[in-house]
Amino acid sequence: MYNVKSLKAEEFISDEEILDTLAYADANKDNVELIDAIIDKARLRKGLTHREASVLLACEIPEKIDEVYKLAEQIKKDFYGNRIVLFAPLYLSNYCVNGCVYCPYHMKNKHIARKKLTQEEIVKEVTALQDMGHKRLAIEAGEDPVNNPIEYILECIKTIYSIKHKNGAIRRVNVNIAATTVENYRKLKEAGIGTYILFQETYHKKSYEKLHPTGPKHDYAYHTEAMDRAMEGGIDDVGLGVLFGLEMYRYEFAGLLMHAEHLEAVHGVGPHTISVPRIKHADDIDPSAFDNGITDDTFAKICALIRISVPYTGMIISTRESQQVREKVLPLGVSQISGASRTSVGGYAEAEPEEESSEQFDVSDQRTLDEVVNWLIKMDYIPSFCTACYREGRTGDRFMALCKSMQILNCCHPNALMTLKEYLEDYASEETRTLGMALIDRELEKITNPKVKQTAYEHIHDISEGKRDFRF
Ligand code: SAM
Repeated sequence: MYNVKSLKAEEFISDEEILDTLAYADANKDNVELIDAIIDKARLRKGLTHREASVLLACEIPEKIDEVYKLAEQIKKDFYGNRIVLFAPLYLSNYCVNGCVYCPYHMKNKHIARKKLTQEEIVKEVTALQDMGHKRLAIEAGEDPVNNPIEYILECIKTIYSIKHKNGAIRRVNVNIAATTVENYRKLKEAGIGTYILFQETYHKKSYEKLHPTGPKHDYAYHTEAMDRAMEGGIDDVGLGVLFGLEMYRYEFAGLLMHAEHLEAVHGVGPHTISVPRIKHADDIDPSAFDNGITDDTFAKICALIRISVPYTGMIISTRESQQVREKVLPLGVSQISGASRTSVGGYAEAEPEEESSEQFDVSDQRTLDEVVNWLIKMDYIPSFCTACYREGRTGDRFMALCKSMQILNCCHPNALMTLKEYLEDYASEETRTLGMALIDRELEKITNPKVKQTAYEHIHDISEGKRDFRF
């Protein structure tokens, strides 16, 4: 039985409702009148329901898909401007007691090197990340109550925030660890984390149970209800995602939006971000063994539809995607990307010998952070290292309220420019610096609010004078 406000996974992600939605979408995929009405509704920038969005996903009429793409681009510009926030994952430990069949960290994999960073090794990793210019991390770990208990994760977060190397600092630590208890979420909140990210992998219960045959992650309800527990524990920024390739993408897409609707209905705030990872080759894992891989075109269509369905939710694309695919989807609504990522434990400070690989999956985009920043600037995006919202307490419903009223532009635009300036002064190559300074000049000109403009000029000047204001 479908009930968006229920706290039971099988009721707010009702299989019956998803199947009805897919049948409704199939029945209406050529219904031009309905499709036009849905696109018109999306133009109001208040989002779409999972049913409406599913009709557009099923629709294959080229002119209509084109309209969706154009609208996604416009909404992206209205809500996020041309800013792209940058971050890097930091793998703490690949010890894991689960049996996820798509992940090389699964317990039965005996030939992958098992590693867990010591606090001294974290200092080395974070120093290397700060030397690139990173300010925002997503920490990653396998699930293992003995090797990676919550106390270990908390200690790592404390160490990460304490490292101040040259002008560097990690100002926001997002956390991607296995579903846990309200009590542990409360501890994470107290440790000052940014977003709590947990991918659903698949919303299809039967497939979920097959794909997670052993270990605590096997429990579909416990995993699916994790965000409710996180919010109960006081974490108000949560990040959703599914691993595309495992199940039928249309099923996942409807489930993802239903999950977002559920969080909004119960907690008054939807997901802070949505990630769209696709399954990749990894040690012991061949992605072609999974039947539901999606093409780059379908991937782009999903990104565009997420953008118009939940306009105020950030969208994240990782280095699982190549430069070419990232270029295709950036304008369709992506707000955050990772750069220069290593998916191995300890991979930033030292290159791993191949026979000791601890890598989670192959990275497609292997460029350095400077190359990524340079590339973004050349495409007229503002690479942003901003973490101000979180530092100023603009999280959860406060962030959403600002974002929905499009006020966030007055804060984010100048803050992005200031953090870019900081990056250019402290870390950029000469070419990137020259290009970036010119971009900052062009973008400062565009600010219309005189007060905002003056503050931006003053802060940018302060940064050239060597001052660093960690409010950003
Ligand atoms: N252990 C934590 C959990 O259970 O959610 C999360 C951390 S895991 C390091 C991060 C994510 O990587 C997983 O949620 C999964 O979606 C993704 N992942 C696992 N294997 C992958 C593969 N072969 N290709 C792409 N992504 C993969």
